[in-house]
Amino acid sequence: MAMPAVARAAHQSASYLAALESINAEQLEQYVEHLADDKLQGREAGKPGGTAAGDYLAARLEELALQGGGVDGGFFQGFAPGYRNVLAMVRGSDPKLSRQVILIGAHYDHVGYGTRRSSRGTVGRIHNGADDNASGTSAVLEVAEALTMLAEPPRRSILFAFWDAEEKGMLGSKHWAAHPTVPLKNVVAVINLDMVGSLRQQRLTVFASRSGYGWRRVVCRNNDGLELRLDFPWTVKHNADHYPFFQRSVPAIMFHTGLTSTYHTPGDDAKLLNYAGVNRIARLLFGVVYDLGNEPEVPRFRKAARTETESQRKSIAAITTRLPERLGVSWKADEATDEAVKRDGLRLVRVTAGMPAAAAGIRPGDRIVRLAGRDIRNGEDLRAAVMGAESPATITVGRNDSEQSEELTIRLAGKPLPLGVAWRSDEAEPGMLILTHVVPGSPAGRAALKPGDRIYRLAGRTFADGRQFAETVKTLSGPVELVVERDGQPRTVVLQIESQGPIPAA
Ligand SMILES: [Zn+2]
Repeated sequence: MAMPAVARAAHQSASYLAALESINAEQLEQYVEHLADDKLQGREAGKPGGTAAGDYLAARLEELALQGGGVDGGFFQGFAPGYRNVLAMVRGSDPKLSRQVILIGAHYDHVGYGTRRSSRGTVGRIHNGADDNASGTSAVLEVAEALTMLAEPPRRSILFAFWDAEEKGMLGSKHWAAHPTVPLKNVVAVINLDMVGSLRQQRLTVFASRSGYGWRRVVCRNNDGLELRLDFPWTVKHNADHYPFFQRSVPAIMFHTGLTSTYHTPGDDAKLLNYAGVNRIARLLFGVVYDLGNEPEVPRFRKAARTETESQRKSIAAITTRLPERLGVSWKADEATDEAVKRDGLRLVRVTAGMPAAAAGIRPGDRIVRLAGRDIRNGEDLRAAVMGAESPATITVGRNDSEQSEELTIRLAGKPLPLGVAWRSDEAEPGMLILTHVVPGSPAGRAALKPGDRIYRLAGRTFADGRQFAETVKTLSGPVELVVERDGQPRTVVLQIESQGPIPAA
């Protein structure tokens, strides 16, 4: 079991844990089997099978003693020609915040017997739509049930929406967004689940996470212990039920496990789904909903997401500027394994004119024995020492024409890299840094951090930006904990920081 990256008191409460543990694969499978049974004839909107599916959901919500979230306090919102959204509500426990609504949705309809337009398989046979989208429907139902088990409901209200007629052009979610049953301005966040039944290689895609500041952080935090590999493309995806909300400036994301060979064919059957996967995704959803329901802030809408593209993401990720040199020396790469280096220091083959080493009087052929308190046994040591050192630094140099080594003071160019890392920030995720460089042999390098890793916490604290991060690092020594996220998985990493104070000298 992984060490919890961030232990949060609320998530340790007995009631939270019992509710979380109530979510289980067997129940999820039963829901899917019911919804994706041939009896419901592919749940086409407006057809008997679709109507039966809506009735089943409403009956289940009533059993859970949830309030209706549809028209006139009921569970339904009908719209022409004979379609129905199914809606239920958990009223928030905070007198003020309960006006705000977190909307969790999934479409429950599918394509019935298929048409030439809607089917990729044999038209005229029942398309059960187990993955699409009995899977998301069952996860939302299961999370609704879990929320009823909390000792106290979340502070904000939670609205569960089972959309109809998605397969006919997202008609249910579009209808609701145009005719909302709670004021649309009170809907502060939306999570849509569409096709979450085919988890493979632990990969779950989270679309549109840049629609709100800090979405990624909230989702990843709740992946702690679930170990899903989360992917956050910059794509918003316009052909799913979160989109009408995104269009209306509501932060809205979608969970999705990807297309399969049975997509929109009669073969999309209950027996093929990965229920352990649905279970983990439902648990992730539960944690995220709980946080959105209770935390002081929810992600604010981020306009820039309207124009950002996946190719932009790739080009930004591809930029890795070279780290500036701070010393201006070169050595032979194979020198690193030479026993003589360990004894005598690293021999320089070139010293760049005009750079700090040359200015301090260092010459080709000199051997660097020590720098800023660190013994230099190979090139990695030297690079790590140079990148981490404050300026001016003390450098110990061995010379061929002398038995004695010499101590020089050197003014290094630029600033030290705290912990041996360089980074960029991401406007969509304030208070987080993305590593662009990790110096081998540095505290970060020794802890196996990699470019692309994201840092959320330092020594138990959050930080506003890179500047504050660097300032905080300066005050630390010894073992220091970082919360690092890679592939959506947060983990606690302990770095050993050498004392950075002045080196005592006699
Ligand atoms: Zn579909």
